[in-house]
Amino acid sequence: MSNQNQQKSKNSERKKKRIRWSKSGNGKGPVIVVFVGIHGNEPAGLKAIDVISEKIDETGQKMEGSIYVVSGNIRAMEEGVRYLDTDLNRLWELYNTQKDFSALNGEKRPSEFGESLQIKHAIEEIINEHDEGEEFIFTDMHTTSSRSCAFIMLNDTIENRELARTFPVPQILGIEENIHGTLLSYINNLGHKAIGFEAGAHLDRLSVKRSEAFLWLLIHNSRVLKLNEQDIEKYEKSLQAHPGVPDTYYEVKYHQVIQDAEKFEMIEGFENFDQIEKDTPLAYDHGELIRAPVNGRIFMPLYQKRGRDGFLIIKEVSEFWLYVSAYLRRSFLHRYLKYLPGVSVLSKHSFEVDLRIARFLVKDIFHLLGYRVIDKNEHTLICYRR
Ligand SMILES: [Zn+2]
Repeated sequence: MSNQNQQKSKNSERKKKRIRWSKSGNGKGPVIVVFVGIHGNEPAGLKAIDVISEKIDETGQKMEGSIYVVSGNIRAMEEGVRYLDTDLNRLWELYNTQKDFSALNGEKRPSEFGESLQIKHAIEEIINEHDEGEEFIFTDMHTTSSRSCAFIMLNDTIENRELARTFPVPQILGIEENIHGTLLSYINNLGHKAIGFEAGAHLDRLSVKRSEAFLWLLIHNSRVLKLNEQDIEKYEKSLQAHPGVPDTYYEVKYHQVIQDAEKFEMIEGFENFDQIEKDTPLAYDHGELIRAPVNGRIFMPLYQKRGRDGFLIIKEVSEFWLYVSAYLRRSFLHRYLKYLPGVSVLSKHSFEVDLRIARFLVKDIFHLLGYRVIDKNEHTLICYRR
């Protein structure tokens, strides 16, 4: 076989592997879709879901609805790296923009672009397979480069919150404002709920256990299969964080973006969710010391030489505040936003805010009402209704 043909047959083999497996039971909904290996060096989710597949087959339990498992970055998984050319979990907002990779010619296109097209195709296939009114539940399985307890990441919509709240782990809200172009945002924009599960450190054996526990509970909570009380208790216990990390909601207070992971060095010893004080030395970027600009908890400190997110700092959000915001989101107040000073209407669901005029609380007000807030430039915010 010529080189080109070999490449082609390899590609078509990968395409077949894109939907790793699927199972359907009686009845219509719900449809669970599990993404594994979006980052090629994070095998825990894949191992866990395959164990579950075997157990379902062994016990022959009757299922309601369906489960699909979609493989992420297949080439990166083969090589055991996070990605080859570009991060597969940062490119999902580039379609139909000027940065869309399809404008590049073949050789310059990152390998991940091809992967993303196949994943997109698989998502469409799955959705088309089912009736419009059926309930879809998407989840994306990850692990972190630092030591960590399990946690959930979600874009802050009420549907996502309700789904995430059924798990006894810390929940990080509104991550889409800091980390753009994720697969979860893409799914949310299609109108479906989606949460990300982070199981712990990449190669920690517990990460596989926790991924398995999360997936069983997801399957149970969405009524695809029934677990017995004992198993529910066992899985919930194996997910729980240590007592120093309450399983409440958190929001991002600070995000350290870096240009070159090779030049970034996190100071050793930080574990995800560790409490830190303002001015604590955290990392070196191009040799320069970076101190914590605010109090809070360190989040996703980067201990690998790939990626653009050095670390984040998060803080607990009170349940009361969340309750108020859920109430307000369904209210009529949206109509009056345009009358705030410095606010102008961009479209039916978005506003532009001039910060030179609207100085106080603007971000908080828009957050409270469920908007996604993006910095357009130094003195302009864009707020989209989620
Ligand atoms: Zn990941």
